[in-house]
Amino acid sequence: MARAFNFSAGPAMLPEAVMRKASAEFLDWNHTGMSIMEMSHRSKEYMAVAHQTEADLREVLAIPDNYQVLFLHGGASMQFSAIPLNLTAEGDTVDYFNTGVWSDKAIIEASRYVNVNVVVGGETKNPTEIPDMAEWSFSEDAKYIHLCTNETITGLAFQEDQLEHVFAQGKPVIADMSSNILCRPIDVSRYAVIYAGAQKNIGPAGLSIMIIRNDLIGHAREITPTLLKWATYANNESMFNTPATYAWYLAGLVFEWLKANGGVETIALVNQRKAEKLYDYIDSSAFYYNTIKPSQRSWMNVTFYLTNKELEAEFIQASTTAGLLSLKGHKIFGGMRASIYNAMPEEGVDALIAFMEQFAKTHA
Ligand SMILES: *Cc1c(COP(=O)(O)O)cnc(C)c1O
Repeated sequence: MARAFNFSAGPAMLPEAVMRKASAEFLDWNHTGMSIMEMSHRSKEYMAVAHQTEADLREVLAIPDNYQVLFLHGGASMQFSAIPLNLTAEGDTVDYFNTGVWSDKAIIEASRYVNVNVVVGGETKNPTEIPDMAEWSFSEDAKYIHLCTNETITGLAFQEDQLEHVFAQGKPVIADMSSNILCRPIDVSRYAVIYAGAQKNIGPAGLSIMIIRNDLIGHAREITPTLLKWATYANNESMFNTPATYAWYLAGLVFEWLKANGGVETIALVNQRKAEKLYDYIDSSAFYYNTIKPSQRSWMNVTFYLTNKELEAEFIQASTTAGLLSLKGHKIFGGMRASIYNAMPEEGVDALIAFMEQFAKTHA
């Protein structure tokens, strides 16, 4: 069977070239007579793969030397607890934006350990915009500011000028970039910590990646579990215990693929084109609509509804039959969601638009 276009929000589609390479060397990696997943993480061969993966990520994101790159388990969600434990003492205050479900989860975890000031948001679980800067309230003594640059479930992303205003507070900025890391160039030096689960735009599930400024490592609270302390990973090349070796290797193949395809600068142009043509089509059609403020629409997760809700089930069924998979929106909000990460070829978006046009025509 041919590979379909898979619009899943995560775990998500991976580049076909990566899957082919992994498949070709699955049983016998580099003439070692074993699969890379059967190999000791401390072997010279595996360590070389691990180091190359980090070097390639550093290259594609232009990560400065005063940042550590860590490869961890536990997903992005584990960091919701690790962040306050590593950066605060009891009684401290921190600033969190509440722009959707993932921000909210981060707030719930942080609230166990520190006083959380919500800068803005939280009135609804399904916001369609990040309110105007005039409504934001930072706290004077916050130890850091946390935000989710791209809310995966609704497809709501921070605008550049809003991020500038966050940086202007002069506090360490911590960003959950699980669903938009590597989608375009960023200036890593403006962030204190960037973290992301791998299963959206990096590789398979089971791995998460953190980029942390050196001076923020080593201050975890005494009670912090060893495996939640960033220093545990930083001091042991992310191999204090057994890492997710196969996921790490596959992430390496994805970074290699990104480099071979012009890096994040080039993929950003493709991503912008993909997102714009899909939003343009939705906006131009009376059959479909999107509720997110146009300047804050995600490039990665495009949500949309049918004006006639009764046709949603049929839309899902027909699109699946047409080889356009996993378009059903998140169970909390219904509707549709097309996740169009780096690995989604532009032809996939073109095929989706053609399908939507045809469906609208035959159901008008
Ligand atoms: C998927 C996602 C998470 C959770 O990731 P896990 O790796 O499953 O813990 C957190 N934040 C955002 C923005 C996400 O998209």
